[in-house]
Amino acid sequence: MKKVKRRTVSVLVLIAVIAAGLGLYIIRFAVSGDDWAGFASNGNAFSGGRLQEGKIVDRNGVILLDITGGEYSYAQDETVRRATLHAVGDRDGNIGTSAIKMFASELLGYNPITGIYSFDGDGGTLQLTIDSQLNAAAYNALAGRSGTVAVADYTTGEILCMVSTPSFDPENPPEISSDDTSGVYLNRFLSSSFTPGSIYKLVTLAAAIENIDDLFQRDFSCSGSMQVGEDNIVCTRAHGEMKIEDALAMSCNCVFAQLALELGSATMAEYAGEYGLTSAVNVDGIGTAAGRYDLAPEGSVDLAWSGVGQYNDLVNPAAMLRFVSAIANSGKAVELTQVDSFSIFNGSKRIMRSSTAEKISQMMDYCVSYTYGEENFPGLQLRAKSGTAEVGGGREPNAWFVGFLEDEEHPLAFVVLIENGGWGSTAAGSVANQVLQAAVN
Ligand SMILES: [Zn+2]
Repeated sequence: MKKVKRRTVSVLVLIAVIAAGLGLYIIRFAVSGDDWAGFASNGNAFSGGRLQEGKIVDRNGVILLDITGGEYSYAQDETVRRATLHAVGDRDGNIGTSAIKMFASELLGYNPITGIYSFDGDGGTLQLTIDSQLNAAAYNALAGRSGTVAVADYTTGEILCMVSTPSFDPENPPEISSDDTSGVYLNRFLSSSFTPGSIYKLVTLAAAIENIDDLFQRDFSCSGSMQVGEDNIVCTRAHGEMKIEDALAMSCNCVFAQLALELGSATMAEYAGEYGLTSAVNVDGIGTAAGRYDLAPEGSVDLAWSGVGQYNDLVNPAAMLRFVSAIANSGKAVELTQVDSFSIFNGSKRIMRSSTAEKISQMMDYCVSYTYGEENFPGLQLRAKSGTAEVGGGREPNAWFVGFLEDEEHPLAFVVLIENGGWGSTAAGSVANQVLQAAVN
């Protein structure tokens, strides 16, 4: 009887392994299928390098783009058109990471499961995971400022909102000169990286939790500045005596600079790498811009500033969203996806101990109650960290606000970045509130 049971288990394990292998094969097939099925010299599907047929809809079936006989017709609502431009793509294919460019084979009716074309002249329908109304809310909240807003379900990785600005109306594309520096064709969420400022304290904190045994027992102190060699790390004010929880909530530069010096640049770099912040992350086969963490000399002011998200630190917003999603999801990062049919194949990877994730999550809760003010985020079970990243050149700092809702009904993680937007918690925090309210209500 025991033997039979053991054999049954073996067979079940074997079946599971085969199923997993098949699943993996389908994912690879789906992703690389694009390369050969959607190549631009396919005469039936393309004319002059442009797709001739296909439809792109949002998660609720709202038409974002209908291509019939080479005629492009975008969403009815102008705000939706502007808010979904970078996800959908422009007629001339200038937005390299757009659905028109990246998912041409799905648009043509290529089926990633059977691998059979259903192309009969009508094309296929590509369903994106974004919600066009949520995108419109984010676009309005950015109010003409450059930046990006993204929201994802941290249990599935589905991207519900992905807006990049500046944008334009694809029905009436403006003349954009070749020496334009606004980066209007760039999807900032996928293809840019930025100085993180204080949101990077979450990374330094994670490394400190796992490497400094008495972190939570320690008494820290800040006099408003701290000398490192010939230079100084400065805070906005003297934060006084505090525990690590208060250091995060008050965003004390001196404490996090000190932690970076203690951890050393190799450990700091190791954690940035483990969290996917220094390499491209994969979003449906699109590799994002890589972030950066330079190894500064031990004991240097550069290493100190790197723990505060300054020095040469850079992060990509998608990689940041994946990182905060992992904190929300007990340390497991679910890969981000924007194509509805891909999300069922989406894998996850543990990038952080669950105890570390839980501790950081509680501290982000404290940031909201202690510093940002629950009244500024009514009804939201918000956990967040702000960043006000100095960018030099006399420009206003970049404003960041990242985090998630500790809410089973709305398991949403988000990232908001406003270039030269000023103060993180107010400027970007207010955008986050508007978008999350729209997502929840
Ligand atoms: Zn301080």
